[in-house]
Parts: sequence; C-alpha cells; structure tokens
Amino acid sequence: MPVPALPLPDGTTIPQLGYGVFLVENEIAADVTDRALAAGYRHVDTATRYDNEEGVGRALRNAAVPREDLFVTTKLWNDAHAHDDAIAACEASLDRLGLDQVDLYLVHWAAPSQGRYVEAWRALIEIRERGLARSIGVANYPLPQLEEAIDATGVAPAVHQIELHPYFQQRELREFHARHGIVTESWGPLGQGKSDLLENPAITDVAAAHDASPAQVVLAWHLAHGLVTIPKSVTPSRIVENLAAAELTLTAEELAAIDDLDRPDGRGGADPATR
Ligand code: NDP
Repeated sequence: MPVPALPLPDGTTIPQLGYGVFLVENEIAADVTDRALAAGYRHVDTATRYDNEEGVGRALRNAAVPREDLFVTTKLWNDAHAHDDAIAACEASLDRLGLDQVDLYLVHWAAPSQGRYVEAWRALIEIRERGLARSIGVANYPLPQLEEAIDATGVAPAVHQIELHPYFQQRELREFHARHGIVTESWGPLGQGKSDLLENPAITDVAAAHDASPAQVVLAWHLAHGLVTIPKSVTPSRIVENLAAAELTLTAEELAAIDDLDRPDGRGGADPATR
C-alpha cells in the first residue's frame, strides 16, 4: 500500500510517512537517504542544525525519482544569525540541498526566551511568498507562542512538528491544530529509543497479534490518528520495516489501548517552553 498523502491547508499535500535524519552524519546521509528512497520513501525531513543537508541533497539529486514526487523539509535554526536573515539561511539550505525550493520550511524551535518567534514566523511567510518554500510551518512552538504568532500575522502554519508518541500524545496542541486546520507532525515518533515504549506490553501484544514489529504498531498508531510522521533509522532492515507500517491497520480497541499510554511526564526531549 502506498503511503497516503494528507492535504495541507495551503492546497498542497504531504506524504504521511517520511524519513527523518536527525543525528545522521553527513558522511552517511547520502547513503541512508538513498536507501530510504529506494525502499519507497518520498518524504525526507532534515534541518540546517543536522549538518547533513549536503549529503541528503546528493541522494535527492542521484535518485531516480522526479523532483515533483519528492517532499523535502528543512528547518531554520534558532540562533540570532539565522533569525536575523532567515531568507539567507533558507537560500543556504537550498544550496546545500541542491534545490530551488523546499516543500516545507519550518522554524525549528520557538525559543521563547529569545523573543524572536513571531519575527521568525513572519520571515517564513516572506520565504513562501518568494517561492523558496512551497509550504511553511513551525516546530516546537508552545501553545501561547503559537497563538501569538498566528494572531500577529493572521497566518497559521500549515504544519506544526512536535514531539509526539504514545507516551506523550500532545492532546491540547492537537485539539488547537484541529480547530485551526494545522497538520500535526510527530517527531520522535518511536520515542527516540529513550524509553521502554517498544517493549511495553500494550504495544508488543498488538505487534504479536498482527505479526508486526512494535515499531510498526507505533507508526500505524500515528497514521491512524491522522498524524504525519518521520521515523529515523540508519539500519537498512528498519528503514524498510518502518515504511511497511503504512500497510498495517489497527482495530479501534488496539488504538484505544495505545491511547491509554499517554503520561504527564512522557516527554523525552527538550521542553520548547524553556529551551
Ligand atoms: P525516532 O523516534 O524516529 O527514533 C529513532 C531511534 O529509533 C533510532 O535510535 C533508531 O535506531 C531507532 N529505530 C528506528 N526504527 C526502529 C525500529 N523499527 N525498531 C527499533 N528501533 C528503531 O526519533 P528521532 O529523534 O530520530 O525522530 C524522528 C525524526 O524527527 C528525526 O530524525 C528528525 O527528522 C525529526 N526530529 C525533529 C525534531 C525537531 O525539533 N523538530 C527533534 C527530533 C527529531 P537506528 O537508527 O540505529 O536504526
């Protein structure tokens, strides 16, 4: 089954399951991205901060896949330099990727203490107007900063990329997104290997029932909830395994059992409110 494409509020679409490359060194980025594209992924999520746009770009250029079939995301890092000239930062990313336009450009973190999250969002609106990005969004904006950015510009992000997995389900933000037509994208969808999520019996029992892997069950849960997700792996067999989660359909009871895993202390990464 091919990966579904979800509509974005700006009239474009996004492949619901993509390939993330956080912590992938530039030296191997071309090789693993190439593997992912050969396996059938058409959506790649990188960032200036990952220092691997050049390697990812090499794989994109060498791929036997037409540009219009690829969906490439990168992100504006939240240092003062990048925020002072977001257009130059985006152009530098495009240069490293070897692209004229990214499909999605995100502000990487709101970083409320720097007080530049509205400015950064305004700059992305201009980046889209200039045609450097087809769609724009944000990542890691706490609810008050997200509301402020929308109120100040009158423009809602097409996508909000946030930490989201069964131990940390972000219900409040997801409800806000649903009201504003924002598509939720889960980062760290497998829990980043920081918890026992993939060993939790609520997951492994479902995996056994479907002859699937725990990671596939977790990814199928994201897809069933209408979330876009971008699991990372540098392991060839897992690259293939994760994509095949698009073929797995969970029952309402199985989804409900995983919904019950949400925990108030389930966050594994940095808190966007204080980072
Ligand atoms: P993930 O939840 O995707 O977990 C990645 C870890 O899980 C790796 O250690 C990987 O190991 C392992 N893994 C992958 N597949 C399997 C599998 N089938 N079975 C068991 N273990 C598996 O975490 P990420 O942090 O990488 O998040 C995904 C993507 O989200 C990132 O790559 C990045 O693109 C994006 N992201 C965005 C952030 C933001 O601030 N906007 C922050 C963090 C991530 P191995 O590679 O060794 O196979």
